[in-house]
Amino acid sequence: MKVYLDNAATTAIDPEVVQAMIPVLEKNYGNPSSIHSLGRESRVIIEQARKKVASFINAAPAEIFFTGGGTEADNMVLRSAVQDLGVNHIITSPIEHHAVIDTAEVVEKNQGIKLSLVKHDAQGYVDLNSLEQLLAENKDRTTLVSLMHANNEIGNRIPLKKVADLCKQYGAYFHSDTVQTMCHYSFDVRELDIDFLTCSAHKFHGPKGIGFLFVNQDIQIKPIITGGAQERNMRAGTENIYGIVGLTKAMEIAYRDLDAHQKHVQGLKTYMIKQLKENIPSISFNGDPEGDSLYTVLNVTFPNSEMDEMLLYNFDIEGVCVSGGSACSSGSNVGSHVLRGIGADMTKPAIRFSFSKFNTKEEIDYTIKVIKELFAVNA
Ligand code: PLP
Repeated sequence: MKVYLDNAATTAIDPEVVQAMIPVLEKNYGNPSSIHSLGRESRVIIEQARKKVASFINAAPAEIFFTGGGTEADNMVLRSAVQDLGVNHIITSPIEHHAVIDTAEVVEKNQGIKLSLVKHDAQGYVDLNSLEQLLAENKDRTTLVSLMHANNEIGNRIPLKKVADLCKQYGAYFHSDTVQTMCHYSFDVRELDIDFLTCSAHKFHGPKGIGFLFVNQDIQIKPIITGGAQERNMRAGTENIYGIVGLTKAMEIAYRDLDAHQKHVQGLKTYMIKQLKENIPSISFNGDPEGDSLYTVLNVTFPNSEMDEMLLYNFDIEGVCVSGGSACSSGSNVGSHVLRGIGADMTKPAIRFSFSKFNTKEEIDYTIKVIKELFAVNA
């Protein structure tokens, strides 16, 4: 049996998305910047997609900029905030995705801005008092707060509206990396009153290499990638029309089926937690999987055994595709900054199981059977 439980890394493309992309791949090769009919047709497809994408999050079409994925969108926010908005202080968390934390460190080093890291607790929850203190202490600076909606490794969520309100109160810009949560929850950018959101299609059964950045219409930033005047002069480069169509279709499906999807996937996660607790008492969970936790992610620390270094490969041999991350997971892997950041036991192997709508209860049963066999001697 092949079981794919690495959906936080990427998801399988939905066949409906493939079907939506095929005719565009076949026929719409015209460059959207060309004046002739084929070019104009491509332009219309892109602008219709932008309208649709915007409508799902209650944004205006002019607030949506298509990008080459989540990393690029995150980079755009941090770099243009410093370049164009006078931001001289970034607050983020030490357990953010590398697309944010590494970029923040680069702009700190190259542009001399101040970087502050908010505290979080041992479960990975951001400490809102620490955030408020940092905002208050730096009132004389122009601050950008960048905090992901849900952690991609352990699943903890932040209260988006509360953080957005706090940022407003102190006059700070607020970006949330919603790469793991866009299309898994609904968003209303007007209600949130947020400045920036970032999204990546391959996390919700769309194609890879395409995403978007939402920029609140009150904010004017300039391009990071320069060249042509695409994306209203905000992101140069011929548009990925196939990707844009795929992203839009994936979003349409996600919003159409949101309730059923949440119920199904949360059901799988709850079931797996129960099965693990009952069958492998020596495991522990990282994050707070039964608290305010992204329903697609479950991070588990396993007991030490002679296969520590090989645990991921043992899962793979048995047909279970998962991700790992701890200090002991061999070779040049320095271990997960997230697990280290929350003080997890880095001497033990940790595995991230992440679920999608395509997973079944039978697959969870099979995975539990594999875990029981792998740990038969050591559990
Ligand atoms: N941000 C988060 C939270 C992610 O999980 C990922 C992907 O793993 C990214 C950003 C990067 O997105 P992309 O793969 O589209 O560049």
